[in-house]
This record gives sequence, C-alpha cells and structure tokens, in this order.
Amino acid sequence: MSLVTTPQPAADGWSHSGAAGRGAGRADPPSDLPAGLGDALAAAQIPFVTDQAVLAGHCVDWTGRWHGPALASVRPRSTEEVALVLVAARAARVAVQVQGGNTGLVGGSVPDRPCLLLLTTGLDRLDPVDPGERTAVVGAGVTAARLEAHARTAGLHFGVDLASRDSATVGGMVATNAGGIGVCAYGMMRAQLRGLVAVLADGRVVRSVGRPRKDNCGYDLTGLLAGSEGTLGVITEVEVALHPRPAASTVGLLAVPDLAAAVELARRVQRGRSLLLAAEVVDAAAVARAADALGSADPLRRERPAQWLLLLEVADGGSAEGLADVADHVVAVATTPADRQRLWAVREMQAELHSRYPGLRKLDVSVRLADLDAAVAAIRSAVAGGPAEPAGRVLSHEAGQVLGERVAESATEPSGHRGPGDVPEGLPEVMFGAGPDADAPQIAFFGHLLDGNLHVQLVGASEATERRAIEAVAAAGGSISAEHGIGRMKRDQLHLARSAEQIDWMRAIKSTVDPQGLLNPGVLIDPLRT
Ligand code: FAD
Repeated sequence: MSLVTTPQPAADGWSHSGAAGRGAGRADPPSDLPAGLGDALAAAQIPFVTDQAVLAGHCVDWTGRWHGPALASVRPRSTEEVALVLVAARAARVAVQVQGGNTGLVGGSVPDRPCLLLLTTGLDRLDPVDPGERTAVVGAGVTAARLEAHARTAGLHFGVDLASRDSATVGGMVATNAGGIGVCAYGMMRAQLRGLVAVLADGRVVRSVGRPRKDNCGYDLTGLLAGSEGTLGVITEVEVALHPRPAASTVGLLAVPDLAAAVELARRVQRGRSLLLAAEVVDAAAVARAADALGSADPLRRERPAQWLLLLEVADGGSAEGLADVADHVVAVATTPADRQRLWAVREMQAELHSRYPGLRKLDVSVRLADLDAAVAAIRSAVAGGPAEPAGRVLSHEAGQVLGERVAESATEPSGHRGPGDVPEGLPEVMFGAGPDADAPQIAFFGHLLDGNLHVQLVGASEATERRAIEAVAAAGGSISAEHGIGRMKRDQLHLARSAEQIDWMRAIKSTVDPQGLLNPGVLIDPLRT
C-alpha cells in the first residue's frame, strides 16, 4: 500500500512530511486525504472535514508555539465510531493525532505531520451520578467545568480543577494525568480514575468501567492510560471518582519571604481541622504584574521584602477560622464567592497574562519540597547566564490594564478555547511595549506549592537558556514535567527524568499496542530511536 504523502519516506512507513512545525515557518502544506480513507469514513457515515480554513484552529496549540498540518479532522460521537476511524486510518496508513480541548502546553495535542485529527469533543455523554459508589461515567470530551456542574447536581465535587476548566476535557486530563489546584486535597487525575473505555490502535476496545472499587487482578492497565498522552489508545469514556462537596471556604493571601516558609505555613493550616483545598504561590514580580493588569493594588506592596505570595483556600465554612494559625502573615482575606474570585484572579490570570509575551517559554517542573528554594535559585542562575533573544518585550502598564479587563470579561463568558489566537483584534499592538530590561531574559514563577510544582515563565530566553533551566532542575533531582506531560516539547529530554531502562520499557509497551506508530507519532517517545 502506498503512503499518502511521501516527501520523506520514513522507516516506520507512515506519512512524515518533514519536521515538527515549531519555530519559524510552518510545515509543508499537506496533500489530500487518501480516497480510501475518505470512502471508509463516508461509508461508516462519520463526517470529516478537509477544509484547511476550518482545520487551522485545531492545528495550533494554546501557546501558539506548536503547529503542524492536518489532512482532515473527524469528530466521532461514540466508542464504536472511534474504533471505525482508527481501523480506517490504519488501513490507509494515515497517522492519527488525538485532540481534546487543545489546552495542553507541551505540543502534544497538535500534529507535526499530515495526519487525521481525531477530535474527542463529540464524546460528550454524561451518565447519571452513582451516589453509592460516588462515581460518574462520562464521555472523554466532557470538559472539567461540565463534569463539576454534573457532580454538583448530586451534591458531589470533582477533585481536579485547573484554570483551563472550560475547555480541558476529561479524556485529555486522563491522558496527561492533569494536576491543577486541588491536588493537595484530592490528588491528580489518576487518583480520580475508577475505570475507562479506550480504543487501541487496531480498533480493539478495552473496558474497565463499572468494576468494583477493589479489583487487584494484575497490571494496572487503566492506570497505564493515565499520562500516556494519547500514544497507547484513544480514551472514549471515563468513570470518575467524585467527592463530598467541601464546606464553604476562606481564601487568604499571605506574604512570605521564601518557599520554605510558605510550606511551613501551608502545613500548619493543613494540620488544622479544616480541609486545605489549595496552596498556590506566585513570585512577587508576577504578583505586581497581575495587579497592574487587574487595575488593583499589589497585595504585597507593603510587605517588602516578601518575595512570594501564598494563596491558601481552606474549607472552614467561610469563617476565616481555618487561617487563624497563620493570621500574622495574611495580607488579604475573602469569605464570599465574589471576594474569593477576586483574590484568586492574581493567581488564575498568570498563564493567560504570560501567554501574551512574544516568545514565551513555559516550564512545568517539580522538586521535593525541601529543595524548592534551591531549585528557584538554580533556575534563576541558569537563566541569568543565558543569551537573550531580541523578541522579549514587557507588558506596559496601559496594555496590562486592557488585558486585565479582557481576562475579567472572558472569565464570565461560557468559554471555549481562549488561546493566543483568540486575542481580540488590535489588542497585540497596544499590549506590548519595550520595557527597560527588554534585552535580558525575564523570569516569573507561579505554581502548586505542596506538589513542589513550579510553572516557570521565560520571556526573551533562547532555546539554549530554556534547556539549561530544565537541566538545572534535573540536576537538583527534580522532574522536567510535573503535570503537563512530555508532548513534543520535552521528548528529547525525557532521559533527564527517566533512565534508559525505563525509556526502553515505555518503547516496548508502545510497540506492543501500536507497532506501526499510528497514534500521536512524535509525542512522548520516539519508538524508532534506540
Ligand atoms: P489536549 O490539549 O487536547 O491534549 C493533551 C494530550 O492528551 C495530547 O497528547 C492529546 O493527544 C491527548 N489526548 C486528549 N484527549 C485524549 C483522549 N480522549 N484519549 C487519548 N489521548 C487524548 N494542566 C495541569 O495539569 N494543571 C494545571 O493547573 C493546568 N492549568 C492550565 C491553565 C491554562 C490556562 C492552560 C491553557 C492549560 C493548563 N493546563 C494545566 C494544561 C492542560 O489544560 C491540561 O494538560 C489538560 O489536561 C489538557 O486537556 P485537553 O482536553 O485540553 O487535552
């Protein structure tokens, strides 16, 4: 059988039209969908789209850094349709790129070669909550926000929450083993996973929903799909564990000199009677930038030399008693929903705020809690020693306020994807102005404190600088991916976090279930490399 596109015949026999579409310039325009694949989809009555104008929005990721070509997209509505799609793609020897909400930040959700885009958002069923088991079976395309609303109707709560909640899908969250702001209370996505339905590359369906809670019968194949980044199968349904709704909460902003102090304060609150729902940190410079954008006062302005803002949310019935043991450090407190949201905005707008910087590089790293301050120092030093890229520019005050208003507006919108591509007309021109340090790499930190997880934002940093920062984390015994996954961005750095034996093991698993590399080629591991 002939290949669909053959600019570079590849050893694995699938379509490879050149390098990943990153950096300057797009990959070559794709050739047409093979007639056999189109015929098979049509015969199965599964609509597909080949219009490049329609496909374009799915071919670039949230960061704008990763993009590539697609032959067509297809949006199956059931497990059976997903199986038909994979069988047809396999027969036509066309690789498949799986995409959920496209909020992934490591280039794993968009193609790097001409392929069939399998969009999971049509898998949107919501089965009734099982109140006894405290679970719900939902389609993989259901968003985190929709699942939380569904859980709420049964008086329950979905434990994973993240700023991308309106777009990120349950399937994507399993595939990346998402973390977010609730990990200190409920754990990561794998901990919420009671079962799933997935379609393997050859169209076979595996099911583990509806099983008893205790079910120790060999390898944890369900758990294996968590964090597999779409390389082992397409997740179509998920049975999610739900939790009792927490009591009303108090949010406090605390000023702290360093992360060791922040950990001590968060642990103090955690030892109290009320459930600690979140413990987030933002460095002082990023706090000032967010306050500027929101048009509000910097909560740390009177607390210099506080280097960090610590946000704690505690389920104390909204009495503020949950923060009594750390009251000396509290600079702002909120007990009503509107006020809580206002304090959260300083933390929640960070990803969106920094995504507006041209040439932004985002790291998602973790270290053990005792090593947090040393890791920050090591990253700062690695970045300071690096060459700057001229693209780095700083958000001006006026532009920041415009952005703040836009973020506030969009927070109330029913959402959808809100990536850089969605920046309103004309905004980029007014947003960015050259700042005083435009020639030096800029750095900002925010993250999930008790997970030892820092999101490092590098502006005006070269690829070499980014690499040095990642290597500094690895040298400190940390992880190069705390919660976003490896994707295409960190595939060639996987050896910094996993041994050669572990990577061989991953390759062996991949080649067993997907010997031809049909699913998400180029994501997570390169099966061909030895
Ligand atoms: P996509 O981006 O579409 O895909 C991600 C990966 O999963 C890809 O490799 C894709 O092929 C694969 N995939 C998707 N669906 C399936 C499926 N059904 N079956 C098999 N594979 C699939 N992440 C966190 O962990 N914590 C955070 O706090 C956090 N905050 C964020 C804040 C913002 C503003 C943004 C934009 C992103 C944030 N993220 C965070 C990253 C992102 O939201 C998560 O990685 C999320 O889990 C991705 O879900 P998605 O549906 O968008 O997946």
